[in-house]
Amino acid sequence: MIVVTDKEANQVSDALAVNRIDFDQQYLEKGAHGLMLMNSIPCSFLKDNSCTIYEHRFEGCREFPALHLAGFNQRLFTHFMHYDRCPIIFNVIERLKIVLNFENTLYND
Ligand code: SF4
Repeated sequence: MIVVTDKEANQVSDALAVNRIDFDQQYLEKGAHGLMLMNSIPCSFLKDNSCTIYEHRFEGCREFPALHLAGFNQRLFTHFMHYDRCPIIFNVIERLKIVLNFENTLYND
């Protein structure tokens, strides 16, 4: 799920030469408080393992997997959801297990 700003939606719809109403209907879901979301899996813009709007991709895509941002533990669901498909997340979680002595903690408590 990617949060899309109004500015980003305008940029991508312009790049695709699609009017904004059609773009919103085709690609966006409206969440609470007017939040706009891209929620399709696989992403509608993914083709042949490449992003077809790469130069215009959303901030949420640019930041993914966002391990460098504050609030890591508030996004654990996302991290574990992508654990088996994102090598960056996989490697970070596996490293954390070693650093935190996860296996010994799990069996010794
Ligand atoms: S980077 Fe492109 S293909 Fe990947 S989720 Fe974002 S818009 Fe979709």
